[in-house]
Amino acid sequence: MTSSPDQPAARVLLSQAHVTEVEEKLVVEALRSGWVAPLGPFVEQFEAAVAERVGVASAVALSSGTAALHLALLHAGAEPGRVVVLPSMTFAATANAVLYTGAEPVFVDSRPDDANVDPDALLSTVSELQKEGRDVAAVVTVDLFGRAADHDVIEPGLAALGVAHVEDAAEALGATLGGRPAGSYGQSAALSFNGNKIMTTSGGGMLLSNDPTVVDRARYLATQARQPAPWYEHTEVGYNYRMSNLLAALGVGQLSRLDEMIGRRRAIRERYAAALAHLPGVSFLGRLGPRRDDEDNCWLTCILLDPAATPSTPDSVIESLGSAGIEARHLWKPMHLQPMYRSARMVDTGASADLFARGVTLPSGSALSDADIDRVIEALGPALSGAG
Ligand SMILES: *Cc1c(COP(=O)(O)O)cnc(C)c1O
Repeated sequence: MTSSPDQPAARVLLSQAHVTEVEEKLVVEALRSGWVAPLGPFVEQFEAAVAERVGVASAVALSSGTAALHLALLHAGAEPGRVVVLPSMTFAATANAVLYTGAEPVFVDSRPDDANVDPDALLSTVSELQKEGRDVAAVVTVDLFGRAADHDVIEPGLAALGVAHVEDAAEALGATLGGRPAGSYGQSAALSFNGNKIMTTSGGGMLLSNDPTVVDRARYLATQARQPAPWYEHTEVGYNYRMSNLLAALGVGQLSRLDEMIGRRRAIRERYAAALAHLPGVSFLGRLGPRRDDEDNCWLTCILLDPAATPSTPDSVIESLGSAGIEARHLWKPMHLQPMYRSARMVDTGASADLFARGVTLPSGSALSDADIDRVIEALGPALSGAG
């Protein structure tokens, strides 16, 4: 779309769904096949294709990533009286899923360089809780903004402590760590296909595991815990968490374009870096530490502002971009700063609060054109020099 003086340019959004004729054809095929709802052949195809992509044995397509986390935590035995340890900096869905089970969340702070959970603090928190006699049901790790957490340290550490690991890979499909895909760690892993994620089914999620009994049990619970009987027979509480065939058709199309979409998000990140990295007080989250960002899926590109070197703040940058028709946002507000979780236990190093105070996520969607990114960069110039 081009703009003219009397027609304002379209708003540049943070991370919009990016669909093409590939998806259109498959969704129409699903409609015409008669398999509109609830299940159908695209669901199985989608599950198999994602499992293969991530390199795990089995997968069940669900109505959301939150549903996947809920079922993963139930399988890990999260329940009242037990504790689940998780990062403070994450989307609320991770913590809410813990509360659904009745378990108590205990939050751990971030690494200062990439915002992912501090792996040493995570492991020492678990062993501290165990020494106190607390019953730790599980640890949930989160692969934030499309970058895998330090699973090379966390996975063996949790195995030694005897605690189940659930990987919240909602933001990280396509990312890897040492060549191993995000979503392949832990007892099980959750993916999200929400509208703003790297690929979407408009709404949806998936639970992955190398242990087929985890996935079989989740599939059963997600189908109202319906027993195999000629009538509706139920022996325990179930959920309505399955994905429909229409949405799975969209997912099959999106997955076929995943690498292309990741490539585009990476190109956008490189464009921002080339234009902004030299500005005083500006750095790129995930490019600060010893680990490069080559294996990230580049879901969202986040910059950090150094208050000692620039008068700009996240609020001033977001507002200034907003008035230029560009959407930018704060990083996830840490859970221990949320009114909802204020009384929860938190292992606080100050890192996530600092990242929240200094971070801005920039428009990163793969549907954005070079002209859109140029518009963002142009608007960021004055915004970052404090003149916005
Ligand atoms: C998006 C997201 C979820 C939840 O996924 P939904 O599909 O929206 O339920 C969970 N955890 C993280 C870290 C997310 O970013």
